[in-house]
Amino acid sequence: MKIAVASGKGGTGKTSVTVNLALSLGKTQVLDCDVEEPNVHILLRPKVGDTFPVELLVPKILEERCDYCGECARFCQFNALFVAGETAMVFPELCHSCGGCTIVCLRDAIVEEPRQIGRVIKCKAGDIDLVYGEINVGEALAVPIIAAVKDHIDEKRTVILDSAPGSACPLVETVHGVDFCLLVTEPTPFGLHDLEVAVEVVQILDIPMGVVVNFAGIGDRGVYDFCEEQGIPIMMEVPFDRRIAELYSRGVPFVEAMPEWRQKFIDLVDQIGEEVAK
Ligand code: SF4
Ligand code: SF4
Repeated sequence: MKIAVASGKGGTGKTSVTVNLALSLGKTQVLDCDVEEPNVHILLRPKVGDTFPVELLVPKILEERCDYCGECARFCQFNALFVAGETAMVFPELCHSCGGCTIVCLRDAIVEEPRQIGRVIKCKAGDIDLVYGEINVGEALAVPIIAAVKDHIDEKRTVILDSAPGSACPLVETVHGVDFCLLVTEPTPFGLHDLEVAVEVVQILDIPMGVVVNFAGIGDRGVYDFCEEQGIPIMMEVPFDRRIAELYSRGVPFVEAMPEWRQKFIDLVDQIGEEVAK
């Protein structure tokens, strides 16, 4: 089973849920798809593993063949090419690697060359296999790195995917193909607003979902009322608890110091299994 853990906004404790879930289950694979700010490894403290570069193919213009017709620049929807007078330039950071400019150039003046935009790291923390991505500073395209992380999915294991916060392309890429999406939220008006947007995206993708309310006890009942209206099960509540917060601030997953929580996370996965089977 593949379970994505996502949240409409940052700071809801999504990664804490991912890590505590994985530690409670034991033999799992965790994919940290939050490639702009991966921090599952900080909590799991894995052994150093293997690193794989993530590359995109970007165009290189061979000026000796180019007649500066400008067709490639007119074609590019991302303004990654500029042709004027006898100058032809490529802005690799803007290129989405669609390959179209190579096709429209009738003079075979464009070749493609690899450009590294990040990396994937594969490592082990006890029984847990961890794969995480890291995007290079200044790069904008997180999706190809998430896809590269997902290329390492182990179909024989329970897989937990930690999504980037928000409801844009990284969320869509992460949850695509999963069996269930666990949305972590806080019971505040801000949490509700971002949860509503994330729910809409997951509904469009037609993926079964449930909610984990973190910091339960603060805020108001808005999140609970919304979930009831939408028929979305609230599958777990993690209280606003000083001890949990202190453990988190020290980088200690709370199931390690509060083992009574392990069974609650195991029960959560059983509930997810029942929801998926419906
Ligand atoms: S389409 Fe080809 S020939 Fe025309 S400007 Fe671009 S690279 Fe040069
Ligand atoms: S590969 Fe696509 S996105 Fe990149 S420069 Fe060519 S047309 Fe633009």
